Amino acid sequence: MSDSAEQNVVYAIPMRTRFRGITVREGMLIHGPLGWGEFCPFPEYDDREAAAWLATAIEQVTTGWPEPVRDRIPINCTVPAVDAEQAHAIVGRSGCRTAKVKVADHPESLAEDLARVEAVRDALGPNGAIRVDANAVWDVDTAVRHIERIDKAAGGLEYIEQPCRTIEELAAVRRRVDVRIAADESIRRAEDPLRVAVAGAADIAVLKCTPLGGVRRARQVAEAAGQPCVVSAAVETSVGLAAPQAQAGARPGQAIA
Ligand SMILES: [Mg+2]
Repeated sequence: MSDSAEQNVVYAIPMRTRFRGITVREGMLIHGPLGWGEFCPFPEYDDREAAAWLATAIEQVTTGWPEPVRDRIPINCTVPAVDAEQAHAIVGRSGCRTAKVKVADHPESLAEDLARVEAVRDALGPNGAIRVDANAVWDVDTAVRHIERIDKAAGGLEYIEQPCRTIEELAAVRRRVDVRIAADESIRRAEDPLRVAVAGAADIAVLKCTPLGGVRRARQVAEAAGQPCVVSAAVETSVGLAAPQAQAGARPGQAIA
Protein backbone atom coordinates (compact mmCIF):
# COMPACT_ATOMS: atom_id res chain seq x y z
CA MET A 1 0.00 0.00 0.00
CA SER A 2 1.33 3.45 -0.91
CA ASP A 3 1.56 6.32 1.55
CA SER A 4 -1.37 8.14 -0.05
CA ALA A 5 -3.56 5.01 0.05
CA GLU A 6 -2.80 4.70 3.74
CA GLN A 7 -4.18 8.20 4.18
CA ASN A 8 -7.57 7.29 2.74
CA VAL A 9 -10.20 6.50 5.33
CA VAL A 10 -13.44 4.60 4.83
CA TYR A 11 -16.31 5.40 7.14
CA ALA A 12 -19.74 4.06 8.09
CA ILE A 13 -21.75 6.47 10.21
CA PRO A 14 -25.15 5.53 11.70
CA MET A 15 -27.77 8.13 10.78
CA ARG A 16 -30.16 9.63 13.31
CA THR A 17 -33.01 9.51 10.80
CA ARG A 18 -33.50 7.09 7.91
CA PHE A 19 -33.08 8.83 4.55
CA ARG A 20 -33.56 7.32 1.09
CA GLY A 21 -33.95 3.98 2.88
CA ILE A 22 -30.46 4.33 4.32
CA THR A 23 -29.67 4.07 8.03
CA VAL A 24 -25.86 4.05 7.76
CA ARG A 25 -23.97 6.50 5.55
CA GLU A 26 -20.85 4.99 4.01
CA GLY A 27 -18.09 6.67 2.09
CA MET A 28 -14.42 7.44 1.91
CA LEU A 29 -12.28 10.40 2.83
CA ILE A 30 -9.39 10.81 0.43
CA HIS A 31 -6.25 12.82 1.01
CA GLY A 32 -4.41 14.95 -1.54
CA PRO A 33 -2.22 18.03 -1.88
CA LEU A 34 -4.96 20.39 -0.61
CA GLY A 35 -6.07 18.20 2.27
CA TRP A 36 -9.16 16.05 2.68
CA GLY A 37 -11.94 15.34 0.22
CA GLU A 38 -14.96 13.06 0.33
CA PHE A 39 -16.16 10.34 -2.03
CA CYS A 40 -19.54 8.90 -1.04
CA PRO A 41 -21.75 7.77 -3.94
CA PHE A 42 -24.86 5.86 -2.88
CA PRO A 43 -24.45 2.08 -3.11
CA GLU A 44 -26.89 1.58 -6.00
CA TYR A 45 -25.05 3.99 -8.32
CA ASP A 46 -23.28 2.63 -11.38
CA ASP A 47 -19.69 3.48 -12.30
CA ARG A 48 -20.65 6.40 -14.53
CA GLU A 49 -22.62 8.10 -11.77
CA ALA A 50 -20.00 7.32 -9.13
CA ALA A 51 -17.25 8.73 -11.38
CA ALA A 52 -18.79 12.22 -11.15
CA TRP A 53 -18.75 11.96 -7.35
CA LEU A 54 -15.09 10.96 -7.53
CA ALA A 55 -14.36 13.96 -9.76
CA THR A 56 -15.84 16.20 -7.05
CA ALA A 57 -13.54 14.67 -4.44
CA ILE A 58 -10.49 14.95 -6.72
CA GLU A 59 -11.28 18.63 -7.39
CA GLN A 60 -11.48 19.16 -3.64
CA VAL A 61 -8.04 17.69 -2.93
CA THR A 62 -6.15 18.86 -6.03
CA THR A 63 -7.31 22.09 -7.72
CA GLY A 64 -9.59 23.50 -5.02
CA TRP A 65 -12.49 25.86 -5.68
CA PRO A 66 -13.17 29.34 -7.08
CA GLU A 67 -12.87 32.25 -4.66
CA PRO A 68 -16.22 33.05 -3.00
CA VAL A 69 -18.02 36.16 -4.22
CA ARG A 70 -20.03 36.58 -1.01
CA ASP A 71 -19.53 35.93 2.67
CA ARG A 72 -23.06 34.98 3.70
CA ILE A 73 -25.19 32.09 2.46
CA PRO A 74 -28.78 31.72 3.72
CA ILE A 75 -29.66 28.10 4.46
CA ASN A 76 -32.72 26.03 5.21
CA CYS A 77 -33.13 23.47 7.95
CA THR A 78 -34.25 20.05 6.75
CA VAL A 79 -37.21 18.30 8.33
CA PRO A 80 -37.24 14.57 7.58
CA ALA A 81 -40.40 12.45 7.59
CA VAL A 82 -40.86 12.79 11.35
CA ASP A 83 -44.03 13.41 13.37
CA ALA A 84 -45.42 16.91 13.87
CA GLU A 85 -43.97 17.37 17.33
CA GLN A 86 -40.46 16.47 16.21
CA ALA A 87 -40.82 18.65 13.10
CA HIS A 88 -41.75 21.62 15.28
CA ALA A 89 -38.74 21.01 17.52
CA ILE A 90 -36.30 20.68 14.59
CA VAL A 91 -37.39 24.00 13.10
CA GLY A 92 -37.39 25.75 16.47
CA ARG A 93 -33.88 24.54 17.28
CA SER A 94 -32.47 25.43 13.85
CA GLY A 95 -32.90 29.19 13.98
CA CYS A 96 -33.57 29.03 10.20
CA ARG A 97 -36.19 31.18 8.49
CA THR A 98 -36.67 28.60 5.75
CA ALA A 99 -37.49 24.92 6.23
CA LYS A 100 -37.30 22.14 3.70
CA VAL A 101 -39.80 19.44 4.61
CA LYS A 102 -39.82 15.87 3.32
CA VAL A 103 -43.24 14.62 2.24
CA ALA A 104 -44.59 11.52 0.48
CA ASP A 105 -42.46 9.17 2.53
CA HIS A 106 -44.95 6.33 1.99
CA PRO A 107 -48.15 5.89 -0.08
CA GLU A 108 -50.53 6.78 2.79
CA SER A 109 -48.50 9.73 4.03
CA LEU A 110 -50.84 12.64 3.22
CA ALA A 111 -52.33 13.08 6.72
CA GLU A 112 -48.82 12.96 8.24
CA ASP A 113 -47.52 15.38 5.61
CA LEU A 114 -50.29 17.87 6.38
CA ALA A 115 -49.66 17.66 10.13
CA ARG A 116 -45.91 18.06 9.57
CA VAL A 117 -46.16 21.19 7.42
CA GLU A 118 -48.72 22.71 9.80
CA ALA A 119 -46.29 22.19 12.66
CA VAL A 120 -43.45 23.67 10.62
CA ARG A 121 -45.54 26.75 9.80
CA ASP A 122 -46.36 27.15 13.47
CA ALA A 123 -42.67 26.98 14.37
CA LEU A 124 -41.54 29.34 11.58
CA GLY A 125 -44.26 31.94 11.92
CA PRO A 126 -45.99 33.68 9.00
CA ASN A 127 -42.80 35.16 7.52
CA GLY A 128 -40.87 31.91 7.21
CA ALA A 129 -40.64 30.00 3.94
CA ILE A 130 -41.58 26.33 3.53
CA ARG A 131 -40.32 24.24 0.64
CA VAL A 132 -41.28 20.58 0.41
CA ASP A 133 -39.59 17.65 -1.31
CA ALA A 134 -41.48 14.61 -2.61
CA ASN A 135 -38.41 12.85 -4.05
CA ALA A 136 -40.12 11.90 -7.32
CA VAL A 137 -42.71 9.46 -5.98
CA TRP A 138 -46.11 10.82 -7.10
CA ASP A 139 -47.91 10.35 -10.38
CA VAL A 140 -49.30 13.54 -11.93
CA ASP A 141 -52.84 13.34 -10.50
CA THR A 142 -51.62 12.44 -7.02
CA ALA A 143 -49.09 15.26 -7.17
CA VAL A 144 -51.72 17.85 -8.11
CA ARG A 145 -54.09 16.66 -5.38
CA HIS A 146 -51.46 16.48 -2.66
CA ILE A 147 -49.70 19.73 -3.58
CA GLU A 148 -52.95 21.67 -3.28
CA ARG A 149 -53.66 20.19 0.15
CA ILE A 150 -50.10 20.62 1.42
CA ASP A 151 -49.88 24.18 0.09
CA LYS A 152 -53.03 25.06 2.02
CA ALA A 153 -51.88 23.33 5.22
CA ALA A 154 -48.50 25.08 4.98
CA GLY A 155 -50.11 28.49 4.58
CA GLY A 156 -48.33 28.80 1.22
CA LEU A 157 -45.34 26.90 -0.16
CA GLU A 158 -42.22 28.52 -1.57
CA TYR A 159 -41.90 25.57 -3.97
CA ILE A 160 -42.38 21.81 -4.33
CA GLU A 161 -39.28 19.85 -5.20
CA GLN A 162 -39.46 16.96 -7.68
CA PRO A 163 -43.11 15.88 -7.25
CA CYS A 164 -42.81 13.27 -10.01
CA ARG A 165 -40.05 11.30 -11.67
CA THR A 166 -39.94 12.39 -15.32
CA ILE A 167 -39.51 15.81 -16.89
CA GLU A 168 -42.76 15.34 -18.81
CA GLU A 169 -44.65 14.67 -15.57
CA LEU A 170 -43.09 17.72 -13.90
CA ALA A 171 -44.24 19.86 -16.83
CA ALA A 172 -47.78 18.43 -16.58
CA VAL A 173 -47.95 19.15 -12.84
CA ARG A 174 -46.54 22.63 -13.36
CA ARG A 175 -49.37 23.45 -15.77
CA ARG A 176 -51.97 22.42 -13.19
CA VAL A 177 -50.78 23.94 -9.88
CA ASP A 178 -49.92 27.44 -8.74
CA VAL A 179 -46.99 26.32 -6.58
CA ARG A 180 -43.55 26.69 -8.16
CA ILE A 181 -41.82 23.46 -9.18
CA ALA A 182 -38.16 22.72 -8.48
CA ALA A 183 -36.23 20.02 -10.34
CA ASP A 184 -33.75 17.98 -8.32
CA GLU A 185 -33.46 14.32 -9.37
CA SER A 186 -34.08 15.50 -12.98
CA ILE A 187 -30.75 17.36 -12.83
CA ARG A 188 -27.84 15.01 -12.41
CA ARG A 189 -25.96 15.61 -15.61
CA ALA A 190 -24.70 18.83 -17.08
CA GLU A 191 -27.14 18.79 -20.03
CA ASP A 192 -30.21 18.24 -17.82
CA PRO A 193 -31.07 21.88 -16.91
CA LEU A 194 -31.54 22.72 -20.57
CA ARG A 195 -33.86 19.74 -21.03
CA VAL A 196 -35.85 20.83 -17.96
CA ALA A 197 -36.08 24.41 -19.24
CA VAL A 198 -37.10 23.42 -22.78
CA ALA A 199 -39.85 21.17 -21.43
CA GLY A 200 -41.17 23.97 -19.17
CA ALA A 201 -40.82 21.47 -16.34
CA ALA A 202 -39.57 23.63 -13.47
CA ASP A 203 -39.18 27.16 -12.14
CA ILE A 204 -36.13 26.41 -10.01
CA ALA A 205 -33.09 24.17 -10.45
CA VAL A 206 -31.70 22.32 -7.44
CA LEU A 207 -27.99 21.92 -8.15
CA LYS A 208 -25.81 19.49 -6.24
CA CYS A 209 -22.19 19.85 -7.18
CA THR A 210 -21.32 16.43 -5.77
CA PRO A 211 -23.21 14.34 -8.37
CA LEU A 212 -22.52 16.95 -11.08
CA GLY A 213 -18.75 16.43 -10.85
CA GLY A 214 -17.51 19.36 -8.83
CA VAL A 215 -17.91 23.02 -7.96
CA ARG A 216 -16.65 24.36 -11.31
CA ARG A 217 -18.91 22.02 -13.23
CA ALA A 218 -21.89 23.05 -11.10
CA ARG A 219 -21.13 26.71 -11.71
CA GLN A 220 -21.18 26.14 -15.47
CA VAL A 221 -24.46 24.26 -15.15
CA ALA A 222 -25.96 27.09 -13.08
CA GLU A 223 -24.98 29.59 -15.75
CA ALA A 224 -26.53 27.39 -18.45
CA ALA A 225 -29.70 26.76 -16.43
CA GLY A 226 -30.92 30.34 -16.75
CA GLN A 227 -33.29 30.01 -13.80
CA PRO A 228 -32.96 30.48 -10.03
CA CYS A 229 -30.79 27.78 -8.48
CA VAL A 230 -30.83 26.28 -5.02
CA VAL A 231 -27.63 24.60 -3.88
CA SER A 232 -28.11 21.34 -2.08
CA ALA A 233 -25.99 18.59 -0.60
CA ALA A 234 -25.96 14.82 -0.89
CA VAL A 235 -25.76 13.58 2.72
CA GLU A 236 -22.02 14.13 2.99
CA THR A 237 -20.06 14.55 6.20
CA SER A 238 -18.74 18.02 7.01
CA VAL A 239 -15.70 17.27 4.82
CA GLY A 240 -17.79 16.83 1.67
CA LEU A 241 -20.24 19.57 2.67
CA ALA A 242 -17.48 22.10 2.08
CA ALA A 243 -18.02 21.56 -1.68
CA PRO A 244 -21.66 22.74 -1.89
CA GLN A 245 -20.72 25.56 0.45
CA ALA A 246 -18.04 26.63 -2.04
CA GLN A 247 -20.56 26.17 -4.87
CA ALA A 248 -23.05 28.52 -3.18
CA GLY A 249 -20.33 31.02 -2.36
CA ALA A 250 -19.12 31.12 -5.95
CA ARG A 251 -22.29 32.85 -7.17
CA PRO A 252 -24.12 35.93 -5.90
CA GLY A 253 -27.32 35.29 -3.98
CA GLN A 254 -30.61 35.51 -5.85
CA ALA A 255 -34.17 35.71 -4.55
CA ILE A 256 -36.42 32.87 -5.70
CA ALA A 257 -39.70 34.75 -5.61
MG1 LIG B 1 -34.55 16.73 -3.38
